[in-house]
Amino acid sequence: MEVKGKRFEGKVAIVTASTQGIGFSIAERLGLEGAAVVISSRRQKNVDEAVEKLKGKGIETLGLACHVSNAQQRKDLIEKTIQKYGKIDVIVSNAAANPSVDGILETEESVLDKLWEINVKATILLLQDAALHLKKGSSIVFISSIAAFQPSQGLSMYGVTKTALLGLTKALAAEMAPNTRVNCVAPGFVPTRFAVFFTSDESRRKDLEERTLLRRLGTTQDMAAAVAYLASDDASYITGETLVVAGGVPSRL
Ligand code: NAP
Repeated sequence: MEVKGKRFEGKVAIVTASTQGIGFSIAERLGLEGAAVVISSRRQKNVDEAVEKLKGKGIETLGLACHVSNAQQRKDLIEKTIQKYGKIDVIVSNAAANPSVDGILETEESVLDKLWEINVKATILLLQDAALHLKKGSSIVFISSIAAFQPSQGLSMYGVTKTALLGLTKALAAEMAPNTRVNCVAPGFVPTRFAVFFTSDESRRKDLEERTLLRRLGTTQDMAAAVAYLASDDASYITGETLVVAGGVPSRL
């Protein structure tokens, strides 16, 4: 990843679900632009490997195991960040689950609960833990999805939880102003492990590419660039907004 700016020099950024995929690229981007990054995911082994990779690029990194629906691990994520770096400037809430491709009316209650818990509630609870430490000029970015605007088959209830994040962005932008800006990125399809069902099959992948105006899937770096912009002072007059990064796939007017 070639990065010219240093917009996060002296800043501290927490990125959840950041040991691979979009979250890892966000951490890498913020780190290459000067931030100390706090990365996390469920598995310690994944955390250790990702920390090594980021440190190998000269990035100041702290890695912690944090399943976002584990209250103690969320608290530790905030507390250990404060212990080590003394502050939090940026939080990127990136974790999500899509445990089922069933239609909404066929989705089991336990799955509905899990979708709400990981995709929406854990974000709120993490910010409740962090709120005390978020000072003037701090910034939050949520990772939603193009499916928030048009929940497609196989992504329908997941899409609805991502729609909820658009509302959460607006609501928290008002609640946390003027000290903290709250924005959101809605990615299009990016070939990661998460999207493997949609992007590994050649014909499905082609179909997705053709739905974009730019005739390609997104990259994790495309998403990281958008997050870095919103989290940085370049976006200091932007709050409560969602940036769609989907190669021109229709979202809204
Ligand atoms: P990914 O490549 O599969 O990476 C997922 C990361 O999250 C891994 O580091 C994983 O590590 C961690 N993780 C999974 N569940 C977690 C949990 N409960 N708590 C903490 N960490 C967890 O996924 P991705 O495609 O980058 O997706 C990242 C975000 O982008 C999600 O919010 C997703 O909804 C959104 N998104 C993705 C696409 C796409 O096409 N890829 C499109 C739109 C939106 P462990 O296994 O160690 O936990």
